[in-house]
Amino acid sequence: MSATKRYFIHTFGCQMNASDSMRMGEVLAQLKYVVAPTVEDADLIIVNTCSIREKAEDKMLSTLGRYRSIKVSRHAVIGVGGCVAQQEKSRLLQRAPFVDFVFGPDAIGKLPQILERVEKDRMRVVETAWMDSEHYLFPRADPETARGKVTEFVTVMKGCDNVCSFCVVPHTRGREVSRPLEEVLSEVRSLVAVGVREVTLIGQNVNSYRGGIPFAQLLRRVAETPGVERVRFTTSHPHDLSDELIEVFADQPRVAPHFHLPVQCGSDRVLARMRRDYTVEQYLERLGLLRQARPGIAVTTDIIVGFPGEDEEDFRGTLALSQAVRFESQFSFVFSPRPRTAAGLHEREWGTVPHEVKIERLERLQRLQREISAEIMRAQVGQEVEVLVEGPAKLDPSKSFGRTPENRSVSFDGDAPSGSRVLVKIHASSPNALRGSQKRVLQPVDRSCP
Ligand code: SF4
Repeated sequence: MSATKRYFIHTFGCQMNASDSMRMGEVLAQLKYVVAPTVEDADLIIVNTCSIREKAEDKMLSTLGRYRSIKVSRHAVIGVGGCVAQQEKSRLLQRAPFVDFVFGPDAIGKLPQILERVEKDRMRVVETAWMDSEHYLFPRADPETARGKVTEFVTVMKGCDNVCSFCVVPHTRGREVSRPLEEVLSEVRSLVAVGVREVTLIGQNVNSYRGGIPFAQLLRRVAETPGVERVRFTTSHPHDLSDELIEVFADQPRVAPHFHLPVQCGSDRVLARMRRDYTVEQYLERLGLLRQARPGIAVTTDIIVGFPGEDEEDFRGTLALSQAVRFESQFSFVFSPRPRTAAGLHEREWGTVPHEVKIERLERLQRLQREISAEIMRAQVGQEVEVLVEGPAKLDPSKSFGRTPENRSVSFDGDAPSGSRVLVKIHASSPNALRGSQKRVLQPVDRSCP
């Protein structure tokens, strides 16, 4: 393999995809590929796709169309990975005849063999078999890439054993596989050694982790790792919000007071059809216990609007729930039918919600959320908050940027270096961010770290 080959990876979707792209980069580096400065310079283009919503899939197809001309001008090889690849398999080769190979998330380790078949044997390849749990290789964050970063993601599990009727993840990511505890802890230690101070444990259904100990204990062990200042995790299912996990929030201050807990809808009728396994009352009860255990905890969520059969009363339930919980923020989307899901198959039978009704409901929900987010952030004005400094602010590099334990973004006047913890007095707010000025350093950067 020539030493001068260059690759470009275009990543769509969630943090799990970003982590998979990183793993692809590591496999390609072993083949002596280097990163191309732009897609136009690439000999190998990989589009790492997301199929969670129809829109994401459409965007992926139009991106692929743009890359077609590079294939013609540079004879670049084009591969498609991620969830759409897993879902569409060889159909994708028919839909995009210029694509050379299609590979699922479990086939990242097979990239060398795939490329060999494409380049030497001139074959178009589809590799979408699941890998059994004992042989699954989790992406390992490269400490050298993480050097200089304050916060980093660590994958602890993949896949999902639930059957939510709208969700494509069980079909595109397979059954749950948990990463062995020692592997997680060793990765955390190697990240701390290069200066990382905050880790976010990720997985499609992270709190159902079963790598020898339950998720609550994993969280505790990571939080107790010397040098770790904060631990976060995403994303969770409400039925895995155990008493033990709530206890960790009560007695381990390094577990950050932020919980992303997707509720999806505020109507029991719709939740049952979504196969979510809880009622609104049960969700509120668990959340109440969590807030008792950790007063002031920031709660964020995901909501689907216009699920098949959702009527105005169901939707008002979602508005009422949002009012009652006062989520810090939410990712809300209109329902889009996904292939092979129960809701996709039964949409008409359950009652398709007209597009304009979905959009109107989404706007009402997002308007309400903006008001709530603005109120929560306004209440911070005049307060002094703890910020872990991540570096210069993107929009104004003369200011510093960091996050509070609740995951609120703060830009501020101050000169503390990345990795330090400072106290910031908040002067102004918007629904998504706070602005202020540094009062004092709470904890300087630990210079003993290499
Ligand atoms: S728990 Fe999450 S990932 Fe699993 S099926 Fe439900 S929505 Fe999808």
